[in-house]
Amino acid sequence: MRKLVGLPIKPPKAEGSDIQLKCNYCINECILSKDDVSYCGLRNISKKETGELPFPSRSKGYIHGYIDANPTNCCNAWFCPAGTSRGYPDYSDYNEPEFGTYSYAAFLYGCTFSCLFCQNYSHKQFQKRHLFDSETLANQIVKNEKITCLCYFGGTPEAQLPFTINLAELILKKIKKQNAVRKFRVCWEWNGSGNKALVDKCMNIAIKTGGNIKFDLKSFDEKLNLALCGVSNSRTLDNFKYLADNYFGTRGKEMPEMSGCTLMVPGYVNHEEVELIATFISEINPDIPYSLLVFHGDYQMRDLSITPRDQALKCLKVAQKYLKNVHLGNKFLLGFS
Ligand code: SF4
Ligand code: SF4
Ligand code: SF4
Repeated sequence: MRKLVGLPIKPPKAEGSDIQLKCNYCINECILSKDDVSYCGLRNISKKETGELPFPSRSKGYIHGYIDANPTNCCNAWFCPAGTSRGYPDYSDYNEPEFGTYSYAAFLYGCTFSCLFCQNYSHKQFQKRHLFDSETLANQIVKNEKITCLCYFGGTPEAQLPFTINLAELILKKIKKQNAVRKFRVCWEWNGSGNKALVDKCMNIAIKTGGNIKFDLKSFDEKLNLALCGVSNSRTLDNFKYLADNYFGTRGKEMPEMSGCTLMVPGYVNHEEVELIATFISEINPDIPYSLLVFHGDYQMRDLSITPRDQALKCLKVAQKYLKNVHLGNKFLLGFS
């Protein structure tokens, strides 16, 4: 599957070779030699420049941005200030969902996982990508005062974390200079495989701005994660626990700083798997929001049906046994309103 799109089947580890490029932005920790392409597909040594990783870098990113009317279909819109009355007046000017405003949807190319069921696989269409610089993007975003939040997703932001941090900081600096009272939240939706120090920086920005972070917890069993997503989930679980232990609850119950989310892949991610994930979350804090998503066939798993209603209800029930804040997403696929 990865060969079909020109990607290596495993993270390159060119130890011992003379020319090397090392990246530690995610669990894959690629070490590239001359002809290698990174696991995420975004880096190769021929573009190496002095002092910094080749593009994408801190100041330039492969991104496709567009505005999305609030409330959006962001995975955390069921509890965030854009989709509810929460966060008013500290993080939102609206004591209701933010109708008439926009979220800036920042789709980032490249992914550090390789899921068979990927529902955003256009992140692998590298021939369509363009490199944008953060200064230009920040100016565009700041200029539109109807934009109240920024959502990084993809692919997954991990492969371009320094770029996402830099862009967010630039926007916040420009807003502060122009209009100190404007509310602007920054959120990340990711698979959780990132470098811990960078992940920590993202969380600090999300907390300060009233944003949040959504973790895709694809499975609890590492072998299942390897089978479905090509990469271990060990970093994801570590980062989830680290951020939750250190930051969850710091803004109070009304404004959760982070959430977990699981796609109920028929026959693979069933109620037993969901029970393991829900137990893991509840042992950290049972108030952490958790969303279960109904699956629909995509990418290399188009032959699967949507999540059967029985499986969805069993998963929901078992998650609610452990957690206080459970949500069912994509329920229209099951005919629920
Ligand atoms: S970017 Fe954040 S604040 Fe905006 S809609 Fe998405 S989750 Fe809500
Ligand atoms: S982590 Fe998300 S974007 Fe990346 S391959 Fe998996 S489903 Fe696709
Ligand atoms: S972000 Fe990309 S290049 Fe860096 S370690 Fe991860 S997969 Fe490799």
